[in-house]
Amino acid sequence: MRIVYLNGEYVPENEAKISIFDRGFLFADGVYEVTTVVDGKLIGFDGHINRLQRSLDELKISFDVDTAKMLAIHRELVERNNLQEGMIYLQITRGNPGDRDFAFPPEDTPVTIVLFTQTKQVVGTAVETKGLKVVTVEDLRWGRRDIKTVQLLYPSLAKMEAKSRGADDAWLVQDGQVTEGTSNNAYIVKDGTIITRNLSNDILHGITRGSVLECARSLQMKVEERPFSPQEAYEADEAFATSASGFTNPIIEIDGHTVGTGKPGPVGDKLRSLYLEENMKAAV
Ligand code: PMP
Repeated sequence: MRIVYLNGEYVPENEAKISIFDRGFLFADGVYEVTTVVDGKLIGFDGHINRLQRSLDELKISFDVDTAKMLAIHRELVERNNLQEGMIYLQITRGNPGDRDFAFPPEDTPVTIVLFTQTKQVVGTAVETKGLKVVTVEDLRWGRRDIKTVQLLYPSLAKMEAKSRGADDAWLVQDGQVTEGTSNNAYIVKDGTIITRNLSNDILHGITRGSVLECARSLQMKVEERPFSPQEAYEADEAFATSASGFTNPIIEIDGHTVGTGKPGPVGDKLRSLYLEENMKAAV
């Protein structure tokens, strides 16, 4: 049984209990981060912690993340669960005001902090060699997708819609342009140029996105940060998605159109290798 972290304590998962009045439960009033673990080490930790603080600040949840303390909790969970490969989920909610009310509780209401591990193969997966199929689905999420909130119902519905249409994931489309995947950032490659939507409130600022684009630039690859349409994606040479646990995952089909050769492409493959190499060197 997993050992999880709840508000300062390490407890077996079935003993971790939170209030029915928790704002996370009643209002999806909380934020989260997912950090990947490879060989028992955390990848991109500082980036995730910085984004966590930004998400909290944007929602005016008054909590100062202590990076060293948070790292110690992550490490402790890796240790206690003997986690070699997988993820650590971290959620912070606006806490439990003791009743339901739209207005925020007083600022000194303690936040709820939950961390738990998931064991999962992330290196050398079948997806890496087989690729994924996606379909496009209208992006009906709220307007602040740059904040990593636990309000994940629409991405979940879109994922189920994709599965019902025989695909693995959905690429979300707003005003005729792809925003991102349900839980990843989206990319196409055309004539050697990598195209991915520019940062704004329309997408999550992926930690993996930042690192992968840095890798691309260090390899002198051309990068264009701009919106692209599903039609442009159908005609691309290659497509892929990035996320903390998927690194770069090849996309081989979009809305039934085979992308490029229908096999994982060389640009995504190269970026995946370099991303892993660089991030494993810096893993903590
Ligand atoms: N976009 C969305 C909507 C996501 O949920 C995620 C993963 N949480 C990403 C992009 C990728 O972000 P990261 O690289 O930080 O995992």
